[in-house]
Amino acid sequence: MSLATATRASCLADESGQEAPYLLTPGPLTTSATTKAAMLRDWGSWDGDFNRLTAEIRERLLAMVGAPRDTYACVPLQGSGTFAVEAALATAIDRRGKALVLANGAYGQRAARILDVLGRAHVVHDKGDYLPPRGEEVAERLDADPEITDVFLVHCETSSGILNPLAEIAEVVKARGKGLIVDAMSSFGAVPLATETVPFDVMVSSANKCLEGVPGFGFVILRQDLLAASAGRAHSLSLDLLEQWCYMERTGQWRFTPPTHVVAAFHTALAEHRAEGGVAGRLARYTRNRDRLVTGMRELGFATLLEDRWLSPIITTFFSPGHPAFEFGRFYAELKARGFVIYPGKLTQAESFRIGCIGRLDESVIARLLDAVREALAAMGVDDCRPAA
Ligand SMILES: *Cc1c(COP(=O)(O)O)cnc(C)c1O
Repeated sequence: MSLATATRASCLADESGQEAPYLLTPGPLTTSATTKAAMLRDWGSWDGDFNRLTAEIRERLLAMVGAPRDTYACVPLQGSGTFAVEAALATAIDRRGKALVLANGAYGQRAARILDVLGRAHVVHDKGDYLPPRGEEVAERLDADPEITDVFLVHCETSSGILNPLAEIAEVVKARGKGLIVDAMSSFGAVPLATETVPFDVMVSSANKCLEGVPGFGFVILRQDLLAASAGRAHSLSLDLLEQWCYMERTGQWRFTPPTHVVAAFHTALAEHRAEGGVAGRLARYTRNRDRLVTGMRELGFATLLEDRWLSPIITTFFSPGHPAFEFGRFYAELKARGFVIYPGKLTQAESFRIGCIGRLDESVIARLLDAVREALAAMGVDDCRPAA
C-alpha cells in the first residue's frame, strides 16, 4: 500500500461519511492517521509522562539543526507561528538595536509590522512580491548603516513559494558580526538548516508545517548566550522566551497551560519524520511532489510565477489563466468537490493561486490532483490556461 493509500484509507470520515479533502496548503496540512490518533488521550500538564514528551521533542529539534546542547536552546511556545516570531524578535533584538528586515512577501512584511508594534527600530529592504534579496544587496545595506544590529530573513517566503538564498545572506551577515534571525516556519524539517553550515543566531518554526504536526505551538532555536542577555527585554509576559525557557529547564513543564494533545501529536509526527529519513527523506518526497505538480500543471498550459531555480519544494504559485471563464472561487469549489483544497494567491500585482506539496501525501496524490484540475477546467469551460498577457 502506498503512503497515500494508507493515509487516505485511514482519513477520518466526517458525519456525512465524506472523507476529508487533502489539504494542499502550507499548514495546517494533511497529517497522518497515527499523528491524529495520538490526540485521543488526555495528558496532565504536570505529569512526568507528558514532560518526557516535551523533553524529547526539544532534544530532537536541537539535534535536527546539529546544535550543541550547551550553546543553543530550544524554546517551544504556545500559539501559532506568528506568536513565536513575535517572541523571537522581542528576545533577539535589543531595545536600542536596529533590525534590517528582508522582505519579499507577506511574512517579511508581518515581521516589520511586529517591530512597529514592539517599537524596535528597523528598516525594510523590500523586494516586492517575488524577487529574492541577494547577499550583495544585504552587504551594501549593512555597510551603509552601521547602526543595524540584526538581520531578519524569511527562508521560504510562503506567500510566493520562493526559497530565499539563506546561505549567501548568512555569510554576509556573519562576516559583519550582525545577528541573524531566520523565519524557517515553512521550510524547517524539509530544507536543510544546520548551525554548522548556516551560523544563525535565532530560528523560528512551528508544529504544523514540514514536520507534519497539527497547529498549536511554535518553537524557537537560539543561542543560549543571546537568550541569557535578553533578560528584561520582553515587552510581554506570555511571550517572554527567557522566562519560558528558565521555567522549562527548572521544572520540565511549560510555563502556562500547554497544548497537550498537540504536543503528543507532534511527538508522533517527529518519530515519523525520523523514520522517513529525517530532513533528507522529507525533502526527497516533497521534491518529487513539487516536480510532478509543476510538470503536470505546465503540461496543462499553466505558468509558474517563479523560475525553476527559485521554486521551493513547499508551495508553488501559478498564474491564473487569462481565459474569461476562469474564476478562482469556482475552481476552488470544483477541486474541493473532488477531494482537494488549494490556496488563494497572495500577489499584489497578478491573479494567482498556490498549491502546496507538503503534508502526508505523495506523487500518487499529486497525480490525482492533476486529474481533478483537468476535470475542473472542463467543467468551467476553460480550454486555455495561459496567464493574461
Ligand atoms: C506559516 C508561516 C508563519 C506563521 O503563520 P501563523 O499563521 O501564525 O502560523 C510565519 N512565517 C512563514 C514564512 C509561514 O509560512
